[in-house]
Amino acid sequence: MTQKGNTITETIETDRIDVACDGGNGPLGHPRVWLHIRPETRDIVCPYCSRQYVLKEGVEATAATTQH
Ligand SMILES: [Zn+2]
Repeated sequence: MTQKGNTITETIETDRIDVACDGGNGPLGHPRVWLHIRPETRDIVCPYCSRQYVLKEGVEATAATTQH
């Protein structure tokens, strides 16, 4: 699966629909940003480091109940 100018560098499974990404410590590192899994596709790609976050099987994608 190829997308123009948006090559997935890594795929990470998560059980949360809100994920924080800072690109790690490598050359892809960037300031921490919050990404929100899209319920339609159950994934999100970080615009900074092109890591793909995929919601784990069985996790409700629409349960936006993040409390602080
Ligand atoms: Zn990132």
